[in-house]
Amino acid sequence: MPKTSNKAHILRKVENNVSNTIRKFKLLRKQEKILVACSGGKDSTAALYILNKLGYSPHAITVDAAIGNYTKQNLKNIKTFCKQNKIPLKVISFREEFGYSLCYLKSLLKQNKIHLTSCTICGVLRRYLLNKYARKLKADKLVTGHNLDDEAQSVVMNLLKNNLELLARQGPITGISKDKKFVQRVKPLYFITEQEVIQYSKAKKFPVSYIPCPCRVGVYRCMINEQLTKHEKLSPETSKNIIKWFLSVSPKLKTKFKSSKQQNYCKNCNEPAKKGVCMTCQILAKIK
Ligand code: SF4
Ligand SMILES: [Zn+2]
Repeated sequence: MPKTSNKAHILRKVENNVSNTIRKFKLLRKQEKILVACSGGKDSTAALYILNKLGYSPHAITVDAAIGNYTKQNLKNIKTFCKQNKIPLKVISFREEFGYSLCYLKSLLKQNKIHLTSCTICGVLRRYLLNKYARKLKADKLVTGHNLDDEAQSVVMNLLKNNLELLARQGPITGISKDKKFVQRVKPLYFITEQEVIQYSKAKKFPVSYIPCPCRVGVYRCMINEQLTKHEKLSPETSKNIIKWFLSVSPKLKTKFKSSKQQNYCKNCNEPAKKGVCMTCQILAKIK
């Protein structure tokens, strides 16, 4: 097949897939205020671009965790992309919100004998800020760029850790029940593989870096990713089959955990929390 028709094929395939996922799972409506959580990487940039192309008028939001040159480059890329595509962008930062960069936070925790991976700290604090600002900005939905491979990894991780409650929260629409303080998160790239996103992003020449975050070393997700990649070579569609299985049990899982779920807010900051004090306040308390 000539190169140009290959390119046209992948563009059409990815865009149709996103459009179908939105329709099938009722992820978004045109009149809603949609915020896309952008990292400056290929996935969230593709999600932002496609939603804009499909007429959803998305806004972008990014969290600067101050991970050296990695963040500087990603920030530059997302600013360039939003300017080129006339998309409003909100930048929030760890330093302004918490007083420290991610790396400094990690070293302060280590001094206090708390050994958390960068990804754990980053994930908790980033989710906290995204939800808080999505609410402040009156967003109806918060879109993330998770793709099929990310999601299959999360399913396996939660299964292997027997964390069924976390597993129940996964899916194209995250969460179990609605909460007035929790902005609904949706994943329009849910059925698109990592390779398809790379092909799409390269075909579109997005200003993105394909270099992984330097803090993503030795984390559990990477180990699962390596294993799934090996399986995929022996048995293509492994990740797709994991997602198919997960979606077949997801309604039952959601029902099971919905009944025992109570809405709780952090005693300290009043943001959503499992119980007592939220994870962000727990982490910040440990560096004091
Ligand atoms: S790889 Fe980990 S540390 Fe790096 S941005 Fe992602 S969650 Fe944060
Ligand atoms: Zn809190």
